Amino acid sequence: MKDVSEYDAIIIGSGPAGLGAAFTLLREFPEKHRRRPRILIVEKERFSTGGLRNDCKMNFTYPIGFPVENWTREEAEYYLELVKNDLQPTIMPRQNLEIYRNRSERLGVELLEIDQDHLGTDGGLQLIKSLIAALSQEGVDIHLEEEMLSVDPQRRTITTTKGTASYTHLLLAPGRKGFKFLQNILTALDIPYVDHTVDIGVRIETRIEHYPIVHDYYDPKFLFPGKVRTFCTNSGNAHVVQERYISRHGSPYYSVNGHAYSGKRESTGLINFAMLKTIRFTEPLASGQEFAENLGLQAMLMGGGHPIMQRVGDFRLGKRSKRESFSGDLYDFEPTLSGASPGDISLSMPAKILRGIWKSMKSLDTIIPGILHPSTIMYYPEIKLYANKPEYVNNHFMIREGIYTAGDGAGTSRGITAAWASGIRAARGMCRE
Ligand SMILES: Cc1cc2nc3c(=O)[nH]c(=O)nc-3n(C[C@H](O)[C@H](O)[C@H](O)COP(=O)(O)OP(=O)(O)OC[C@H]3O[C@@H](n4cnc5c(N)ncnc54)[C@H](O)[C@@H]3O)c2cc1C
Repeated sequence: MKDVSEYDAIIIGSGPAGLGAAFTLLREFPEKHRRRPRILIVEKERFSTGGLRNDCKMNFTYPIGFPVENWTREEAEYYLELVKNDLQPTIMPRQNLEIYRNRSERLGVELLEIDQDHLGTDGGLQLIKSLIAALSQEGVDIHLEEEMLSVDPQRRTITTTKGTASYTHLLLAPGRKGFKFLQNILTALDIPYVDHTVDIGVRIETRIEHYPIVHDYYDPKFLFPGKVRTFCTNSGNAHVVQERYISRHGSPYYSVNGHAYSGKRESTGLINFAMLKTIRFTEPLASGQEFAENLGLQAMLMGGGHPIMQRVGDFRLGKRSKRESFSGDLYDFEPTLSGASPGDISLSMPAKILRGIWKSMKSLDTIIPGILHPSTIMYYPEIKLYANKPEYVNNHFMIREGIYTAGDGAGTSRGITAAWASGIRAARGMCRE
């Protein structure tokens, strides 16, 4: 980066929040300037663009992805229309849900019906390429492999690994992986924030015939009593993956996750989805991130440096899984995350979380008989960090004059479409400021 460049807006992070903001600025930059806005996107990775690379299931129904403390239904629905204009989704059909809905209601479980598009990991990459090309064509500077380090709010400059640049408006959209970075910036700016919520759970993998609802509804969302829910279902060419995180003390740990390629690729015959329980600390107010890190490290200890996997058949018998659990005659499919360690999830997961998740899995097995087949695999841990929720100065997610946050890192979203919407909302704040 040249020392010192001047931009109308610098956007940190090329995820959906950052991209939503960039397109909005291009479209809505006040006419009085009689020129295009000068925009810089700084992205620390070699490639654009954050979480759009992962599976790319886009949800277009409130409240999925929209934290209710930041978004009313009316606000979210208004912004979702703008997101649709930008992303041009093809909503997938849903059918034959009556039977599942009736069974759910009898158990006090809610089946949410969500408008979705699914591009898959490969389709997501195509989308990213076209979005980045469109921004470049409009004159947006995109600096890859450059990390923002600090901000000087008086001089309105940022420092990165490659230099300094000045801004009129700064948008921090560093995503979930940018939690620590954002915490450092909020602390440096003396802006109060809380981080007291976290989702902990397992990822389930089983044969598609044990979860046939996916033929009628790609990513069914069930809400169980006790703040447990299904999340991020993948089918077709579906895989379980592991993501590496570094704890505040520098130790690595993993969270499992899932994704699928678009329908063009051959099916693995398997589905996967997460069963997550939300934990919110009240008193004493603990850090959700620190709690999750400790559980992640504990799982690493039990799994010899890998996530743990256990067959439902073993879990029911109170036995750990062993290598043989994954080759015997009953257990008839290979885990897609083959690097996970066979083990005992109940030795690693706090009892209250485990009870909540197991009870919900039994309910789910009543709604869709088959999910508790002995061959079904549970992978642990799946961790979804909530954000460092800062105190906002206005409803465009401004935290300090000229400085805004958006996306998952700042708690304004929990998914692709809401992240994009929060980028639009922040950018509109900039255009008005
Ligand atoms: C495996 C996986 C699958 C997912 N599947 C789905 C799905 O199907 N549907 C869905 O709605 N959501 C899904 N999500 C969640 C979704 O990816 C996020 O909600 C969304 O990407 C959040 O957007 P964002 O712009 O806030 O952050 P991100 O997309 O994470 O982008 C933030 C960017 O900022 C960059 N960055 C961070 N710190 C700095 C810094 N200091 N300097 C410069 N750059 C920095 C990061 O490298 C990153 O590219 C998935 C997430 C994962 C991990």
